[in-house]
Amino acid sequence: MVRLPLELGVMGLVVAKFGGSSVADASSILRVAKRIVDTKRAGHQIVVVVSAMGDTTDELLDLAREVSPNPPGRELDMLLTAGERISMAVLAMAISDLGYEARSYTGSQAGLITDSTHGKARIVDVTPDRIQQALSENAIPIVAGFQGVSADTKDITTLGRGGSDLTAVALAAALYADVCEIYTDVDGIFSADPRIVPKARQVPRITYDEMMELAAAGAKVLHLRCVEYAKRFDVPIHVRSSFSDKEGTFVIADLADQSKLEKLSKVGAIMEQPIIAGVAHDLGDAKITVVGVPDRPGTAAAIFQSVADAGINMDMIVQNVSASGSSKTDVTFTVPVAESAKAELQLRKAQVQIGFEDIETDENIAKISLVGAGMRSHPGVSATFFKAIADAGVNVEMISTSEIRISVVTRAEDAKAAVQAIHAAFGLDSDGEAVVYGGTGR
Ligand code: ADP
Ligand code: ASP
Ligand code: MG
Repeated sequence: MVRLPLELGVMGLVVAKFGGSSVADASSILRVAKRIVDTKRAGHQIVVVVSAMGDTTDELLDLAREVSPNPPGRELDMLLTAGERISMAVLAMAISDLGYEARSYTGSQAGLITDSTHGKARIVDVTPDRIQQALSENAIPIVAGFQGVSADTKDITTLGRGGSDLTAVALAAALYADVCEIYTDVDGIFSADPRIVPKARQVPRITYDEMMELAAAGAKVLHLRCVEYAKRFDVPIHVRSSFSDKEGTFVIADLADQSKLEKLSKVGAIMEQPIIAGVAHDLGDAKITVVGVPDRPGTAAAIFQSVADAGINMDMIVQNVSASGSSKTDVTFTVPVAESAKAELQLRKAQVQIGFEDIETDENIAKISLVGAGMRSHPGVSATFFKAIADAGVNVEMISTSEIRISVVTRAEDAKAAVQAIHAAFGLDSDGEAVVYGGTGR
């Protein structure tokens, strides 16, 4: 795959995705339209992907829940995809007023082919013929993010919350774009969420691996599957603000890859990996404790199998002596809050067969993670991490680690204090204050 040097002024192909806060209202849409036209005027080809305006997706979800506590997945997807259709059409109108032809396409029209898992469909193919056709006719294609069409059922699907990032990267890969630009409401990727750590430091570049760990740990600035996809197809991601002209952050395979960076940016390569990439927090998990589990081979497997059968991903897992005082054990794990009721129901069905005593669900938790590829080769990282949490007076309820991550579960109300303490303890605080340009953080 040959990518053209954008900085040298040679015409290249850019896929640019604008998040909800960047297209939140009419004036934002006019600002974004101007930005797109400027890219076009600079001689690049541009394909645009848009999210729903502002908090539209959340508002549509609220509406659905008012009507039905458990709406059918097919209908919910049909409803939610309407959000992106609104933004794509109004953005196309705004561009047209600036004298350029823009054509809006639903995910289905743009060739985003998925499986039929409503709410978290996986991309099985990308056939962007109509997008290529529009480009060849000098029109600007505007694609509705977060959605596709099932190859089997022909129904409309969604890719999961935050999935417009994935639409953009998948299109960038299929079109052999030079770069996938993700425009959002902060200046790039920071060492922590700027909404809770004002002293967070913007990182000029980060590897796919570190960004995947951060995204998996709750840093929603990029969707996890978008980073996985970008890594697999070697698509450089450029995260930046649609509200400023700052350079933003490049997500690439190797920070020392000077040749790749030279094509995309004026900033040079980094020869030595920083120890820490960032601190992430996630308030979207619940902790489920299966109390009084018989201590014999096969019971843990039976518990995990029954949760897996419901299509639910577990994250952290701990087993210890039961609080019920018997010779039994307790098994605790975390799942996404939205799926905790389903996990509990599934386990209750298997209660007699597995033989446990009870289930306790706690939604008032936070997962806090420290991520950095340099952690592998630096002793003392865990010691600094746990001392910072202890000094902040925060109690640790669960611990898990990977080669490049340490995660703990704490009370939800302690998340901010813990993240700020860890951030400071690793010397990540910057002198300035990170800017959050828009969005409600919902
Ligand atoms: P969009 O609507 O543009 O997709 P999102 O709300 O999905 O925007 O993602 C941007 C938000 O991600 C930021 O406003 C910020 O609060 C949050 N965020 C969390 N962790 C980080 C991080 N490490 N760096 C930058 N932003 C982060
Ligand atoms: N509008 C969708 C959401 O809010 C997709 C996205 O913004 O990426 O999750
Ligand atoms: Mg997002």
